[in-house]
Amino acid sequence: MSLYFDAVNILTEPSSGGSFKSRIYSSRNLRAPPAQIYALIIETSKWDRVLAEIIEKTDLLRLERKLNPLLALLLVHDHLIAKKGIAAPTAHVLRQAVERHKVRLRAEFVKARVRRGCASVEQLKTAVMREKREASGTDDFIYPRWVRINNILTTFDDQMRTTFSSYRKVESLADLAPEEDNRDARKLLYIDPHIPDLVAVPYGADFTTSSAYKNGEIILQDKASCFPAYLLLGDRGLENPWDGDLVDGCAAPGNKTTHMASLLAKQRQKNEARKQVFCMDASRVRSKTLQKMVSLAGADPIVTVLQGQDFLALDPTEDRFENVSGLLLDPSCSGSGIIGRDDVPQLILPKSTTLPPSKHGKKRKRQEKEDDQDEQETKSTVVASSISPSDENDIPADAVDQERLTKLSNVQARIVEHALSFPRATHVTYSTCSIHLIENEAVVERVLKTKVAREGGWRLLRREEQAEGLRKWEHRGVRVDRVTEGAVESDLTVDLSDEALEACVRCWPGDAEGLGGFFVAGFVRDLGNATPAVKIKESEDSSEGGSEDPEEWDGFSD
Ligand code: SAM
Repeated sequence: MSLYFDAVNILTEPSSGGSFKSRIYSSRNLRAPPAQIYALIIETSKWDRVLAEIIEKTDLLRLERKLNPLLALLLVHDHLIAKKGIAAPTAHVLRQAVERHKVRLRAEFVKARVRRGCASVEQLKTAVMREKREASGTDDFIYPRWVRINNILTTFDDQMRTTFSSYRKVESLADLAPEEDNRDARKLLYIDPHIPDLVAVPYGADFTTSSAYKNGEIILQDKASCFPAYLLLGDRGLENPWDGDLVDGCAAPGNKTTHMASLLAKQRQKNEARKQVFCMDASRVRSKTLQKMVSLAGADPIVTVLQGQDFLALDPTEDRFENVSGLLLDPSCSGSGIIGRDDVPQLILPKSTTLPPSKHGKKRKRQEKEDDQDEQETKSTVVASSISPSDENDIPADAVDQERLTKLSNVQARIVEHALSFPRATHVTYSTCSIHLIENEAVVERVLKTKVAREGGWRLLRREEQAEGLRKWEHRGVRVDRVTEGAVESDLTVDLSDEALEACVRCWPGDAEGLGGFFVAGFVRDLGNATPAVKIKESEDSSEGGSEDPEEWDGFSD
């Protein structure tokens, strides 16, 4: 029975970093074999729609109070679909809770198939997966699988000759759209026009068994997550390499650190490798993942990992940081831009149905109370398991309130401000995977007003100064919060000039770019130049002094 509880735990617990599969395989708290847990979750996710329907129609959740929606989904999957049925002793209380209803469950399963005009269970499976894609409102093709080629261990050309040799190049992301009923079979490749060494393949492509993936030659990293390192290091080459050391202040699990290392590797002769990047994460657990990822990417000769190091506690004047010229800051955020990670299944859960009102007052009251409890239980389970915990930010978007956003943005601003205080720093990037103005343009606005920014001569890296791929990127900063639905409502606006907004880079979930929500901005200065060259406000001639005193640091988001 531990199989089902393990599966529930893995779906509802916050992530500690890494891919969904690697989290299962590296978890120390699971009793069932990881392969079995992974298979159960993936298979259930293919059937969830029809299983939820069957559970609702049989009223299983009301009749069997020991079951919650997620547990019921997993158990009913094995009862109806798995060859060996539920993996628990016949007398187990939860197995009995399902098998007591086997006649009705089977009957509803048949009805679900007939309703969809399917002659076989296989046909039903295809129909259900299609329904799921359609209902998500976002066709899979707009969320392809992004693959970054790691220049430390390989080259773009090598990968085209090996890993992708059997892939056919397509001209647009839309061409990666799955063909009806054949979503995994097509080997198509889209070469990204914005980020060097980044390609996209159809959503269903699986590289986890390929040697290039296992050796760290290719890294599965969303396109938007590649923007910060590219914005920081730009299109430099052998003739114009990055000068100085780099810091990644909030680095785990290490996507952006290893991307920086990959960009540096491209700017160097092979025998030139030397430590140049300091990366850290305040979380010791996540630092271990960070170290693993750095090593897997072959970045050990370039990167020093400071495990468990709070960036805010780092002394910028320490000797070892005297050559730091660039810093990348990607602090914890609300994660509100995150779309379901493509490797974390989004399960559709059954709801409890409501019984018709009873004529008897007392009984009715008791029933209403139970209904409320049921609704609460159902709601909380839906929330817990339908949110895919991000590898990077573990605050579920739906659970974020305005107060929490304010606290996050206070810490984000402090982190960027701290980065600007490194004596030899000339380039800093700030990024989030949030769509909220308060965590993005508003942080930029308040950072630009701080004493350290003004006295240090910091300004925004203008669009025309950005690396070629980012210059071409059309989605730029916004002045008004676009988020008006759901839990967060805000009438916040920022008072940034058009030029400053053009300097900010945005990504939005649900458009044709195939990305989640993301934000990045670059700060630059010429050492010795203390006059900001980008106007912060349209009407500004001298900015207000000093930073707002941010709230006390209230811990990490995870
Ligand atoms: N940049 C990472 C990547 O691309 O793989 C993702 C970083 S994630 C969004 C934010 C990370 O910042 C978390 O791992 C969190 O533990 C860490 N963090 C938050 N505040 C920090 C601080 N003050 N010092 C160091 N790390 C911090």
